[in-house]
Amino acid sequence: MAGRGTKLKKDDIVQVISGKEKGKKGKVLAFYPDEGRITVEKLNMLKKHTKGDGKSRQPGIVEQEGKMHISNVMLACDKCGKGVRVKRKQLEDGKRVRICQKCGEVMDRV
Ligand SMILES: [Zn+2]
Repeated sequence: MAGRGTKLKKDDIVQVISGKEKGKKGKVLAFYPDEGRITVEKLNMLKKHTKGDGKSRQPGIVEQEGKMHISNVMLACDKCGKGVRVKRKQLEDGKRVRICQKCGEVMDRV
């Protein structure tokens, strides 16, 4: 999964490019490199049934972000206002950053 998987990280803003939530944007909550999956804030919500323990916890349904595959999202560019392809660039000080392939905007906080 080396390659495109390494371009996303926690706190990135991504846009969904396929599936029923296509077009929606959200913040990456967690990245699971081994699975090539992420969870995105308020996207792909799954209902989970919880069992009560008879004491403090009540049985019920909680909503939780479900994992989605990174191939279903693209990093969102502020300037372009949508998901874009990114490329890598090395800055003069040696830092490697991701830049928008469309407008050249640096997508990492450096
Ligand atoms: Zn851009």
